[in-house]
Amino acid sequence: MKKFSIVIAGGGSTYTPGIVMTLLNHLDRFPIRQLKFYDNDGERQKVIADACEVILREKAPEIKFVATTDPEEGFTDVDFVMAQIRVGKYALRDQDEKIPLKYGVIGQETCGPGGIAYGLRSIGGVLEIADYMEKYSPNAWMLNYSNPASIVAEATRRLRPNAKILNICDMPVGIQERMAKIVGLNYYNDLEVRYFGLNHFGWWTAVRDKQGNDLMPKIREYVAEHGYLLPDIPDESSWKATFGMAKNTFALDPERFPNTYLQYYLYTKFEAEHMDPHHTRTDEVREGREKFVFSECKKIAASQSIEGLKFKPDDHSNYIVDLSRAIAYNTHERMLVIVENNGAVANFEPTAMVEVPCIVGSNGPERLAMGDIPRFQKGLLEQQVAVEKLAVDAWEEHSYLKLWQALTLSHTVPDASVAKKILDDLIEANKGFWPELK
Ligand code: NAD
Repeated sequence: MKKFSIVIAGGGSTYTPGIVMTLLNHLDRFPIRQLKFYDNDGERQKVIADACEVILREKAPEIKFVATTDPEEGFTDVDFVMAQIRVGKYALRDQDEKIPLKYGVIGQETCGPGGIAYGLRSIGGVLEIADYMEKYSPNAWMLNYSNPASIVAEATRRLRPNAKILNICDMPVGIQERMAKIVGLNYYNDLEVRYFGLNHFGWWTAVRDKQGNDLMPKIREYVAEHGYLLPDIPDESSWKATFGMAKNTFALDPERFPNTYLQYYLYTKFEAEHMDPHHTRTDEVREGREKFVFSECKKIAASQSIEGLKFKPDDHSNYIVDLSRAIAYNTHERMLVIVENNGAVANFEPTAMVEVPCIVGSNGPERLAMGDIPRFQKGLLEQQVAVEKLAVDAWEEHSYLKLWQALTLSHTVPDASVAKKILDDLIEANKGFWPELK
């Protein structure tokens, strides 16, 4: 059995230890010979790498481990690039969330003005990773989690059309895991689904078990009452609200199950009013996930022991490893991937990057036809895809006007004058990360 070599780009990510745990759990079905971490912040990465080195030494000493800030060392001799970079890190995410809130507008990592701002930072970083892969390991595949996935995917479609990049998201996987639990199953891949939309902007139109039984009626009954909130999963406060809110987004179309992020577009005023402009999701992540991951890593490195190891595989890590396996072994599994529409959603823009089920094998994803979509969703999608395409236009052309148009068009922004104020603040905050706009 071939053994694979993997680089995690954004080795300093809070999600890295989870991916390492999943890789270690799956060595019998996805053997690896080498694991590398690459990050452009060596200091941040070192904390995670020092701990992961101990974990690997204890659990799989045969795997060669490298942590580097040198692209050549990081990207040479790899089969898979698992990318999860955050250009501008939490400091800029904080601004993405807090600047729009100053004007009463949703402040969110990937939606609305915050997502657009993040997109303009991410495009260059993600293209750089793709180019390193192309230069040092041209046969590799890049599986990209780096957000905002929709804008990043549009940029990679346009600017690196031949690169072997799959843009992916763990949110549908996380929701499917909840749907599975509602019907007494365990995992996201116990379900077979039909789904359409843009990233963080989609709907499930069919949910079946592996025997083909329709699970929609039972899930519908549950979601109408509770959203995706499950009693046995303790959610952090903003996630609890999000999973509960799915009940309200579902009410707008009780035939299809919504992605949780639709709350920001469909209940915009309510959501903005219920965000604390001084304590946003970034603060929660810093006080929660980041603090936990970094303190656990420091503990492991200091003791050189994995006794009481708290890192576990999760939806995020399982999905990227399942996807790598599908490519590595040509399994033709059905998975959600962000791909060029090209007819998958029949009555929608052919060049949009849509999230739909695909059959994934060693030649990449083969999209499944989702047919026509209803007018309500089509209207929303047309508007959102225009926002995302304008954002990429703005990055390519260094255009202030296109970016102003993108913000104005976002369903989360009330009008052009508010859009302009937010934009001018974002330009200040993103100096050195955005192209200089004319
Ligand atoms: P994080 O800040 O903890 O880690 C990101 C790492 O990327 C940092 O160590 C940073 O130094 C590094 N980095 C930034 N710019 C870089 C560059 N140009 N080259 C190399 N490394 C660079 O962030 P996190 O919260 O762990 O999230 C990581 C990424 O994964 C983010 O983009 C986040 O939005 C994304 N994410 C996506 C999904 C999804 O489903 N698509 C889910 C969770 C997280």
